[in-house]
Amino acid sequence: MKMGRNGRRRSFEATQNVLSFDLEHWYTATLLRDEVSDPIDRIETSVEIVLDLLRRFETRATFFSVGEVVEEYPELIRAVAEEGHEIASHGHTHTPLFELSPEAFREELELSATAIEDATGVRPDGFRAPNFSVTPRTQWAFDALEAIGHRYDSSVFPVRTPMYGVRGAPIRPYRVDPRGPFEDANGANGLLELPLAVFHPWVRLPTAGGFYARLLPTAIIKRGVRNLNRRGIPAMLYFHPWEFNPAVRTDEPPPHKRFVSFHGIERTREKLAELLSTFEFTTSERLVEAYG
Ligand SMILES: [Zn+2]
Repeated sequence: MKMGRNGRRRSFEATQNVLSFDLEHWYTATLLRDEVSDPIDRIETSVEIVLDLLRRFETRATFFSVGEVVEEYPELIRAVAEEGHEIASHGHTHTPLFELSPEAFREELELSATAIEDATGVRPDGFRAPNFSVTPRTQWAFDALEAIGHRYDSSVFPVRTPMYGVRGAPIRPYRVDPRGPFEDANGANGLLELPLAVFHPWVRLPTAGGFYARLLPTAIIKRGVRNLNRRGIPAMLYFHPWEFNPAVRTDEPPPHKRFVSFHGIERTREKLAELLSTFEFTTSERLVEAYG
């Protein structure tokens, strides 16, 4: 039990959860990338909102960062790293793996790792695919991730959704056997997969972040984290810094894309603050350390 800086009692469960942010330009989100003409860049203000929250709750998080953004904003990335957060890879151009060949993916990984190393002096340990695009169709990705020397991946969304996801994939961190990468291989070595959180082992509703976290009441998200933590499973949550910045809203995209992209954006700060005052979060790399 420890006290938050805001004086509220923080009664943590034993399990360490992971808080992650996918750092990209808001208009490169898969749903928006063809919908917005001449967008205003909001990346610095969005990241500052998030850093401010993390400082308030003394929490470290993982920022899966797009290589091109790292090249464009090296000082911003350095500032995030200097506050103790982890910078990991989110590809180089934010292209979903469905649109890449294995060779092009390897190149993306290398370019992004180099950009991150140039900005921070540290090579990234892990990767998250744009739009969770690691599925049975793109499972060649695991060979490339091992080859580049990443220690973990966090791209498996263990719920099938219209755009992505792998039905029946493990919901707790597991070692990947590239021959059967969506089953727990129980291997002692190799890449660790950190799947995204679901509501309950038997009720696999996505509550992990993004649109789902904006849509659902905080009580449901909290219950989902507890459902996992009670079984010793860390919850991997994801957000985007732009989801904390209502200034990104635009009327240009069609209504359903606006709904999925911006619904609930005014309340995300409050929601995350509530989660940070309830649960313990750390970075992916610290969780990976704990797995040895
Ligand atoms: Zn992304």
